[in-house]
Amino acid sequence: MSQQTEQIQSSDIGDILENSLNGIRPDRNDYLRLLESDDIQLMGLVSGHLTRKQFGKKASFVNNIILNYTNVCITDCKFCAFYRSPGEEDSYTLSLEQIENRVKTACNMFKIRQVLFQGGHNPNLELKYYEDAFKLIRTKFPQVGVHGLSPSEIDIIASVEKSSTKEVLARLKDAGLQSIPGAGAEILVDSVKDVISPKKITSEEWLRIMEEAHSLDIPASATMMYGHVESNNDIVEHFYKLTQLQEKTNGFMAFIPWSFEPNNTLMQKEGTVTNSAGGIRLLKMIAISRLVFDGLIPHLQSSWLTNGVGMAQLALQYGADDFGGTLIGEEVVSCTGSRSTELTGQKIIDAIHQIGYQAEERDNFYNTVCMH
Ligand code: SF4
Repeated sequence: MSQQTEQIQSSDIGDILENSLNGIRPDRNDYLRLLESDDIQLMGLVSGHLTRKQFGKKASFVNNIILNYTNVCITDCKFCAFYRSPGEEDSYTLSLEQIENRVKTACNMFKIRQVLFQGGHNPNLELKYYEDAFKLIRTKFPQVGVHGLSPSEIDIIASVEKSSTKEVLARLKDAGLQSIPGAGAEILVDSVKDVISPKKITSEEWLRIMEEAHSLDIPASATMMYGHVESNNDIVEHFYKLTQLQEKTNGFMAFIPWSFEPNNTLMQKEGTVTNSAGGIRLLKMIAISRLVFDGLIPHLQSSWLTNGVGMAQLALQYGADDFGGTLIGEEVVSCTGSRSTELTGQKIIDAIHQIGYQAEERDNFYNTVCMH
Protein backbone atom coordinates (compact mmCIF):
# COMPACT_ATOMS: atom_id res chain seq x y z
CA MET A 1 0.00 0.00 0.00
CA SER A 2 1.42 3.35 -0.94
CA GLN A 3 2.09 5.97 1.68
CA GLN A 4 -0.51 8.25 0.11
CA THR A 5 -3.24 5.62 0.25
CA GLU A 6 -2.45 5.08 3.93
CA GLN A 7 -2.65 8.83 4.55
CA ILE A 8 -6.03 9.00 2.84
CA GLN A 9 -7.39 6.02 4.75
CA SER A 10 -6.34 7.42 8.11
CA SER A 11 -7.85 10.86 7.44
CA ASP A 12 -11.22 11.98 8.85
CA ILE A 13 -12.28 12.75 5.30
CA GLY A 14 -10.72 9.56 3.88
CA ASP A 15 -14.11 8.09 2.91
CA ILE A 16 -14.98 11.22 0.90
CA LEU A 17 -11.62 11.23 -0.86
CA GLU A 18 -11.78 7.52 -1.65
CA ASN A 19 -15.26 8.01 -3.08
CA SER A 20 -13.93 10.82 -5.27
CA LEU A 21 -11.14 8.59 -6.53
CA ASN A 22 -13.86 6.06 -7.43
CA GLY A 23 -15.94 8.62 -9.32
CA ILE A 24 -18.47 9.29 -6.54
CA ARG A 25 -18.91 12.98 -5.83
CA PRO A 26 -19.28 14.23 -2.26
CA ASP A 27 -22.83 14.88 -1.10
CA ARG A 28 -24.19 17.86 0.78
CA ASN A 29 -23.13 16.52 4.21
CA ASP A 30 -19.65 15.85 2.89
CA TYR A 31 -19.24 19.48 1.76
CA LEU A 32 -19.28 20.66 5.37
CA ARG A 33 -16.87 17.95 6.50
CA LEU A 34 -14.46 18.99 3.75
CA LEU A 35 -14.76 22.67 4.67
CA GLU A 36 -14.11 21.90 8.34
CA SER A 37 -11.15 19.62 7.68
CA ASP A 38 -7.53 20.75 7.82
CA ASP A 39 -6.32 17.97 5.50
CA ILE A 40 -5.82 20.44 2.68
CA GLN A 41 -2.80 18.73 1.16
CA LEU A 42 -4.67 15.44 0.97
CA MET A 43 -7.64 17.14 -0.69
CA GLY A 44 -5.21 18.72 -3.15
CA LEU A 45 -3.55 15.39 -3.80
CA VAL A 46 -6.86 13.83 -4.80
CA SER A 47 -8.29 16.83 -6.66
CA GLY A 48 -4.99 17.34 -8.51
CA HIS A 49 -5.06 13.66 -9.48
CA LEU A 50 -8.65 13.94 -10.74
CA THR A 51 -7.72 17.01 -12.77
CA ARG A 52 -4.63 15.48 -14.37
CA LYS A 53 -6.63 12.31 -15.14
CA GLN A 54 -9.00 14.45 -17.17
CA PHE A 55 -6.70 17.08 -18.67
CA GLY A 56 -3.16 15.72 -18.39
CA LYS A 57 -0.36 18.11 -17.43
CA LYS A 58 -1.91 21.02 -19.25
CA ALA A 59 -3.58 24.26 -18.31
CA SER A 60 -5.74 26.44 -20.53
CA PHE A 61 -6.14 30.20 -20.72
CA VAL A 62 -7.92 32.71 -22.93
CA ASN A 63 -6.45 35.82 -24.50
CA ASN A 64 -9.03 38.40 -23.57
CA ILE A 65 -9.76 41.89 -22.38
CA ILE A 66 -12.26 43.05 -19.84
CA LEU A 67 -14.42 45.83 -21.10
CA ASN A 68 -15.82 47.59 -18.07
CA TYR A 69 -18.25 49.55 -20.24
CA THR A 70 -19.59 51.72 -17.43
CA ASN A 71 -18.81 52.34 -13.76
CA VAL A 72 -22.19 53.96 -13.15
CA CYS A 73 -24.13 51.83 -10.69
CA ILE A 74 -27.15 52.17 -8.44
CA THR A 75 -26.60 48.98 -6.46
CA ASP A 76 -23.96 50.18 -3.94
CA CYS A 77 -22.46 46.79 -3.04
CA LYS A 78 -20.37 47.12 0.10
CA PHE A 79 -17.56 44.99 -1.33
CA CYS A 80 -17.13 47.10 -4.48
CA ALA A 81 -14.50 49.80 -4.96
CA PHE A 82 -15.25 50.28 -8.64
CA TYR A 83 -18.66 51.87 -8.97
CA ARG A 84 -19.74 55.53 -9.04
CA SER A 85 -23.25 56.87 -8.53
CA PRO A 86 -24.99 58.43 -11.55
CA GLY A 87 -23.69 61.96 -12.11
CA GLU A 88 -20.53 61.56 -10.02
CA GLU A 89 -17.54 63.37 -11.41
CA ASP A 90 -15.42 60.38 -12.40
CA SER A 91 -18.27 58.21 -13.65
CA TYR A 92 -18.06 57.04 -17.25
CA THR A 93 -19.85 55.06 -19.95
CA LEU A 94 -17.96 53.95 -23.05
CA SER A 95 -19.35 54.98 -26.42
CA LEU A 96 -19.65 52.48 -29.27
CA GLU A 97 -16.66 54.13 -30.87
CA GLN A 98 -14.57 53.69 -27.72
CA ILE A 99 -15.64 50.06 -27.51
CA GLU A 100 -14.63 49.47 -31.12
CA ASN A 101 -11.26 51.16 -30.61
CA ARG A 102 -10.46 49.12 -27.51
CA VAL A 103 -11.36 45.82 -29.16
CA LYS A 104 -9.46 46.76 -32.31
CA THR A 105 -6.32 47.66 -30.36
CA ALA A 106 -6.54 44.47 -28.31
CA CYS A 107 -6.95 42.38 -31.47
CA ASN A 108 -3.93 43.99 -33.08
CA MET A 109 -1.72 43.87 -30.01
CA PHE A 110 -2.78 40.67 -28.26
CA LYS A 111 -4.84 38.64 -30.77
CA ILE A 112 -7.65 38.36 -28.26
CA ARG A 113 -10.35 35.68 -28.54
CA GLN A 114 -12.77 37.02 -25.99
CA VAL A 115 -14.21 40.24 -24.66
CA LEU A 116 -15.45 40.02 -21.11
CA PHE A 117 -18.12 42.72 -21.12
CA GLN A 118 -19.05 43.77 -17.60
CA GLY A 119 -20.07 46.95 -15.84
CA GLY A 120 -22.22 48.63 -13.25
CA HIS A 121 -26.01 48.68 -13.05
CA ASN A 122 -26.49 51.78 -15.12
CA PRO A 123 -30.16 52.84 -15.25
CA ASN A 124 -29.51 55.07 -18.26
CA LEU A 125 -28.51 52.31 -20.65
CA GLU A 126 -31.18 50.70 -22.78
CA LEU A 127 -31.07 47.25 -24.34
CA LYS A 128 -30.14 48.81 -27.68
CA TYR A 129 -26.76 49.93 -26.28
CA TYR A 130 -25.82 46.34 -25.55
CA GLU A 131 -27.29 45.01 -28.80
CA ASP A 132 -25.32 47.57 -30.80
CA ALA A 133 -22.12 46.81 -28.90
CA PHE A 134 -22.40 43.05 -29.36
CA LYS A 135 -23.35 43.31 -33.04
CA LEU A 136 -20.39 45.59 -33.59
CA ILE A 137 -17.92 43.25 -31.90
CA ARG A 138 -19.20 40.09 -33.60
CA THR A 139 -19.40 41.70 -37.05
CA LYS A 140 -16.10 43.54 -37.08
CA PHE A 141 -14.09 41.02 -35.03
CA PRO A 142 -15.71 37.64 -35.74
CA GLN A 143 -12.91 35.69 -34.07
CA VAL A 144 -13.67 37.43 -30.76
CA GLY A 145 -16.31 35.86 -28.52
CA VAL A 146 -18.60 37.96 -26.35
CA HIS A 147 -18.71 36.74 -22.75
CA GLY A 148 -20.75 39.29 -20.92
CA LEU A 149 -23.34 40.60 -18.52
CA SER A 150 -23.90 38.87 -15.21
CA PRO A 151 -27.46 37.90 -14.23
CA SER A 152 -27.79 41.09 -12.18
CA GLU A 153 -26.89 43.21 -15.22
CA ILE A 154 -29.47 41.27 -17.26
CA ASP A 155 -31.99 42.03 -14.52
CA ILE A 156 -31.35 45.79 -14.59
CA ILE A 157 -31.57 45.85 -18.40
CA ALA A 158 -34.92 44.06 -18.15
CA SER A 159 -36.25 46.64 -15.68
CA VAL A 160 -35.03 49.57 -17.80
CA GLU A 161 -36.60 47.90 -20.84
CA LYS A 162 -39.77 46.90 -18.93
CA SER A 163 -39.33 43.46 -20.38
CA SER A 164 -38.69 39.97 -19.02
CA THR A 165 -35.15 38.75 -18.38
CA LYS A 166 -35.74 35.86 -20.77
CA GLU A 167 -36.76 38.21 -23.57
CA VAL A 168 -33.67 40.34 -22.90
CA LEU A 169 -31.44 37.25 -23.00
CA ALA A 170 -32.98 36.10 -26.28
CA ARG A 171 -32.43 39.51 -27.89
CA LEU A 172 -28.87 39.74 -26.60
CA LYS A 173 -28.14 36.28 -27.95
CA ASP A 174 -29.44 37.34 -31.37
CA ALA A 175 -27.14 40.37 -31.16
CA GLY A 176 -24.07 38.21 -30.49
CA LEU A 177 -23.88 37.45 -26.76
CA GLN A 178 -22.30 33.99 -26.57
CA SER A 179 -21.90 33.21 -22.88
CA ILE A 180 -22.48 34.72 -19.45
CA PRO A 181 -20.00 35.23 -16.62
CA GLY A 182 -21.25 34.10 -13.26
CA ALA A 183 -20.56 37.31 -11.41
CA GLY A 184 -23.07 38.55 -8.91
CA ALA A 185 -23.57 35.14 -7.33
CA GLU A 186 -21.25 36.04 -4.45
CA ILE A 187 -22.70 33.50 -2.02
CA LEU A 188 -26.12 32.21 -3.05
CA VAL A 189 -27.63 32.69 0.40
CA ASP A 190 -29.84 35.74 0.92
CA SER A 191 -28.84 36.35 4.55
CA VAL A 192 -25.28 36.89 3.24
CA LYS A 193 -26.41 39.02 0.31
CA ASP A 194 -28.48 41.14 2.71
CA VAL A 195 -25.22 42.17 4.40
CA ILE A 196 -22.85 42.62 1.46
CA SER A 197 -25.11 43.55 -1.45
CA PRO A 198 -28.64 44.21 -0.19
CA LYS A 199 -29.80 45.90 -3.40
CA LYS A 200 -28.64 43.14 -5.72
CA ILE A 201 -30.88 40.37 -7.07
CA THR A 202 -31.67 37.48 -4.72
CA SER A 203 -30.14 34.04 -4.95
CA GLU A 204 -33.32 32.66 -6.49
CA GLU A 205 -33.32 35.40 -9.15
CA TRP A 206 -29.66 34.71 -9.99
CA LEU A 207 -30.42 31.00 -10.39
CA ARG A 208 -33.59 31.70 -12.41
CA ILE A 209 -31.78 33.99 -14.87
CA MET A 210 -29.01 31.44 -15.28
CA GLU A 211 -31.59 28.73 -15.93
CA GLU A 212 -33.26 30.95 -18.53
CA ALA A 213 -29.90 31.53 -20.22
CA HIS A 214 -29.14 27.81 -20.26
CA SER A 215 -32.58 27.10 -21.74
CA LEU A 216 -31.70 29.47 -24.59
CA ASP A 217 -28.38 27.64 -25.13
CA ILE A 218 -26.32 30.43 -23.64
CA PRO A 219 -23.69 28.71 -21.49
CA ALA A 220 -22.23 30.40 -18.42
CA SER A 221 -19.60 30.37 -15.71
CA ALA A 222 -20.53 30.08 -12.06
CA THR A 223 -18.60 31.99 -9.44
CA MET A 224 -18.31 32.17 -5.70
CA MET A 225 -16.88 35.12 -3.81
CA TYR A 226 -15.71 33.91 -0.40
CA GLY A 227 -13.74 35.40 2.46
CA HIS A 228 -16.20 37.98 3.82
CA VAL A 229 -19.16 37.36 6.12
CA GLU A 230 -20.14 33.87 4.92
CA SER A 231 -20.02 30.75 7.10
CA ASN A 232 -19.01 27.27 5.96
CA ASN A 233 -22.71 26.37 5.97
CA ASP A 234 -23.37 29.21 3.51
CA ILE A 235 -20.69 27.81 1.20
CA VAL A 236 -22.35 24.39 1.47
CA GLU A 237 -25.63 26.00 0.33
CA HIS A 238 -23.84 27.73 -2.53
CA PHE A 239 -22.27 24.49 -3.78
CA TYR A 240 -25.55 22.63 -3.37
CA LYS A 241 -27.62 25.15 -5.32
CA LEU A 242 -25.14 25.18 -8.18
CA THR A 243 -24.96 21.38 -8.40
CA GLN A 244 -28.77 21.20 -8.40
CA LEU A 245 -29.04 23.63 -11.31
CA GLN A 246 -26.18 22.04 -13.23
CA GLU A 247 -27.73 18.59 -12.91
CA LYS A 248 -30.88 20.06 -14.46
CA THR A 249 -29.42 22.21 -17.26
CA ASN A 250 -25.74 21.32 -17.77
CA GLY A 251 -25.22 24.96 -18.75
CA PHE A 252 -22.18 25.87 -16.65
CA MET A 253 -18.85 25.51 -18.43
CA ALA A 254 -16.67 26.59 -15.52
CA PHE A 255 -16.58 27.39 -11.83
CA ILE A 256 -14.50 30.27 -10.48
CA PRO A 257 -14.04 30.63 -6.73
CA TRP A 258 -12.41 33.95 -5.94
CA SER A 259 -11.54 35.53 -2.67
CA PHE A 260 -12.92 38.87 -1.55
CA GLU A 261 -10.39 41.69 -1.73
CA PRO A 262 -11.33 44.24 0.97
CA ASN A 263 -9.05 47.19 0.05
CA ASN A 264 -10.90 50.46 -0.60
CA THR A 265 -14.31 48.88 -0.06
CA LEU A 266 -17.04 50.01 2.33
CA MET A 267 -16.78 46.66 4.12
CA GLN A 268 -13.18 47.45 4.98
CA LYS A 269 -14.02 51.00 6.07
CA GLU A 270 -16.80 49.71 8.30
CA GLY A 271 -14.41 47.12 9.74
CA THR A 272 -16.58 44.17 8.65
CA VAL A 273 -13.68 42.49 6.82
CA THR A 274 -10.16 43.86 7.03
CA ASN A 275 -8.01 41.16 5.40
CA SER A 276 -8.32 38.85 2.46
CA ALA A 277 -8.77 35.13 3.08
CA GLY A 278 -5.22 34.20 2.06
CA GLY A 279 -3.45 31.44 0.16
CA ILE A 280 -4.29 28.37 2.21
CA ARG A 281 -8.00 29.15 2.04
CA LEU A 282 -7.67 29.60 -1.72
CA LEU A 283 -6.05 26.19 -2.17
CA LYS A 284 -8.68 24.60 0.02
CA MET A 285 -11.48 26.21 -2.00
CA ILE A 286 -9.93 25.09 -5.27
CA ALA A 287 -9.43 21.53 -4.06
CA ILE A 288 -12.96 21.25 -2.63
CA SER A 289 -14.47 22.81 -5.76
CA ARG A 290 -12.87 20.14 -7.94
CA LEU A 291 -14.17 17.39 -5.66
CA VAL A 292 -17.67 18.91 -5.56
CA PHE A 293 -17.97 19.54 -9.31
CA ASP A 294 -15.87 16.71 -10.72
CA GLY A 295 -17.65 15.28 -13.77
CA LEU A 296 -20.37 17.92 -13.43
CA ILE A 297 -18.87 21.34 -14.24
CA PRO A 298 -15.89 20.65 -16.49
CA HIS A 299 -13.55 23.58 -15.84
CA LEU A 300 -12.20 25.16 -12.69
CA GLN A 301 -10.40 28.48 -12.84
CA SER A 302 -7.32 29.29 -10.81
CA SER A 303 -8.34 32.92 -10.28
CA TRP A 304 -5.00 34.71 -10.43
CA LEU A 305 -6.77 38.04 -10.45
CA THR A 306 -7.13 38.45 -6.70
CA ASN A 307 -4.38 36.07 -5.60
CA GLY A 308 -1.51 36.57 -8.02
CA VAL A 309 0.33 34.33 -10.45
CA GLY A 310 2.26 32.31 -7.85
CA MET A 311 -0.92 31.19 -6.14
CA ALA A 312 -2.48 30.40 -9.51
CA GLN A 313 0.43 28.06 -10.24
CA LEU A 314 -0.25 26.24 -6.97
CA ALA A 315 -3.99 26.20 -7.68
CA LEU A 316 -3.28 24.35 -10.93
CA GLN A 317 -1.76 21.57 -8.83
CA TYR A 318 -4.72 21.60 -6.43
CA GLY A 319 -7.48 21.00 -8.95
CA ALA A 320 -7.75 23.99 -11.28
CA ASP A 321 -7.31 23.33 -15.00
CA ASP A 322 -7.78 26.83 -16.38
CA PHE A 323 -5.73 29.94 -15.72
CA GLY A 324 -8.54 32.26 -16.73
CA GLY A 325 -7.94 35.23 -18.96
CA THR A 326 -5.29 37.80 -19.63
CA LEU A 327 -7.72 40.50 -18.54
CA ILE A 328 -5.83 43.44 -19.94
CA GLY A 329 -7.67 46.60 -19.01
CA GLU A 330 -9.50 45.19 -15.99
CA GLU A 331 -10.72 47.95 -13.69
CA VAL A 332 -12.96 46.42 -11.03
CA VAL A 333 -10.32 44.52 -9.09
CA SER A 334 -7.59 47.06 -9.82
CA CYS A 335 -9.69 49.63 -7.92
CA THR A 336 -8.92 47.62 -4.78
CA GLY A 337 -5.19 48.00 -5.51
CA SER A 338 -4.99 44.22 -5.60
CA ARG A 339 -1.65 43.48 -7.23
CA SER A 340 -1.16 44.03 -10.92
CA THR A 341 -4.29 43.30 -12.92
CA GLU A 342 -2.47 43.25 -16.23
CA LEU A 343 -1.12 39.96 -17.46
CA THR A 344 -0.29 39.17 -21.06
CA GLY A 345 -0.72 35.80 -22.73
CA GLN A 346 3.03 35.27 -22.83
CA LYS A 347 3.34 35.75 -19.07
CA ILE A 348 0.60 33.20 -18.50
CA ILE A 349 2.31 30.76 -20.87
CA ASP A 350 5.60 31.25 -18.99
CA ALA A 351 3.88 30.70 -15.64
CA ILE A 352 2.27 27.48 -16.90
CA HIS A 353 5.57 26.25 -18.35
CA GLN A 354 7.31 26.96 -15.03
CA ILE A 355 5.27 24.21 -13.37
CA GLY A 356 6.06 21.77 -16.18
CA TYR A 357 2.64 21.95 -17.85
CA GLN A 358 1.72 22.65 -21.47
CA ALA A 359 -0.25 25.83 -22.07
CA GLU A 360 -3.42 25.56 -24.13
CA GLU A 361 -4.74 28.77 -25.58
CA ARG A 362 -8.53 28.45 -25.79
CA ASP A 363 -11.51 30.34 -27.12
CA ASN A 364 -14.65 31.50 -25.35
CA PHE A 365 -16.11 27.96 -25.38
CA TYR A 366 -12.96 26.23 -24.11
CA ASN A 367 -12.07 24.95 -27.60
CA THR A 368 -8.34 24.71 -28.31
CA VAL A 369 -6.92 27.58 -30.38
CA CYS A 370 -3.32 26.35 -30.17
CA MET A 371 -0.83 24.72 -27.82
CA HIS A 372 2.27 26.43 -26.44
S1 SF4 B 1 -20.32 44.92 -7.71
FE1 SF4 B 1 -21.37 45.51 -9.59
S2 SF4 B 1 -23.47 45.83 -8.91
FE2 SF4 B 1 -22.25 45.93 -7.06
S3 SF4 B 1 -21.73 48.12 -6.80
FE3 SF4 B 1 -20.04 47.18 -7.98
S4 SF4 B 1 -20.58 47.57 -10.10
FE4 SF4 B 1 -22.44 47.83 -8.90
